[in-house]
Amino acid sequence: MSDYAASTKALFPVLREAGLFQGVDLAAVQPLLQEARILQVKAGQVLLDPKHRNTDIYIVLTGELLVCLEPRVANPLARMGPGDCVGELSIIDAEMPSAYVVAAAATGLLAIPKPVLWRMLAVQQVMALNLLHVLSRRIRENNHVLLGSLEIQREYRNKAETDALTGLHNRAWFTEVFPKQLELCERTGQHASLLMVDIDHFKKVNDTYGHAGGDEALRHIGRLMRRNLRGTDLCARFGGEEMIVLMPGTDLHQAKLTADRLRENIAAASLTLPDARQVTLTVSGGIAEWQPGIDLDGLIQSADEALYRAKGGGRNQIALSARAGLLT
Ligand code: GH3
Ligand code: MG
Ligand code: MG
Repeated sequence: MSDYAASTKALFPVLREAGLFQGVDLAAVQPLLQEARILQVKAGQVLLDPKHRNTDIYIVLTGELLVCLEPRVANPLARMGPGDCVGELSIIDAEMPSAYVVAAAATGLLAIPKPVLWRMLAVQQVMALNLLHVLSRRIRENNHVLLGSLEIQREYRNKAETDALTGLHNRAWFTEVFPKQLELCERTGQHASLLMVDIDHFKKVNDTYGHAGGDEALRHIGRLMRRNLRGTDLCARFGGEEMIVLMPGTDLHQAKLTADRLRENIAAASLTLPDARQVTLTVSGGIAEWQPGIDLDGLIQSADEALYRAKGGGRNQIALSARAGLLT
């Protein structure tokens, strides 16, 4: 047996563990293994990158490789240890590698040139099946990474769109979402109504129970609004102690029923502060019904005027806008 043949035989224990060689008669492919190369890469060395064509499939023998979307190794997509392979995608589709593969430590590799791999597959057809397994595992891993990053994005977006105090959506969110909802109502010919809610005498709440007590009261109102509105109603903190609700598919009359129920529930649900003091809150509201051609600013202005009248009328009541939103 030549030295090289002996050294390829020494690879058998690792290859038996390698996904690509599962169930393969290694003795049958040994002559072809001799056409493969064993190479060593240093820590930090780039093995594959999207700018250079790849000609081999690599089996990790020792050490570790990192698969990264950028040349930086800070955020690897995957780690490849002994028995894992890299480079199979670019071998199969003859495209450039889709990621960077960088050695995390000194790494020993078996590099099998593409023509040699095809000949191995002809000799041991189970390798074709193994290759499919390797590919499907890669797709699943990538999907997993993709889902994880979507999750992170969603979390960031949630943070950017949520009011930290009340847990309701914030201004940035409703100024983006409400006009889109109005557009949709216009396209589908639906009604929509806008409700502005303002806590009554909130300054007095702060004066009596302190700012922390006021914050508790705002959280309490946020909870009650979420609980009393439909899933399709879009609710946000407008600012300070004012909340804004867009109710798609709801005419002025239905919106009034909903707003009155919300107002009554708020007046009936007293809040217990951490020091056991009870706070009873009331809210006033103004509603404007949207009509095609009215934009969000015009609608808010109309609902605000109605709210002003509800305050003037003695508070703890809902007033309706005399006109639909202002045409601008
Ligand atoms: P009205 O019935 O006319 O609405 O009376 P009001 O006292 O509620 O009126 P006003 O709008 O003048 O006062 C709102 C108060 O809400 C003033 C402000 O200090 C308080 N406020 C606004 N944002 C917050 C907040 O995040 N936390 C607390 N604790 N108070 C807030
Ligand atoms: Mg106010
Ligand atoms: Mg107020």
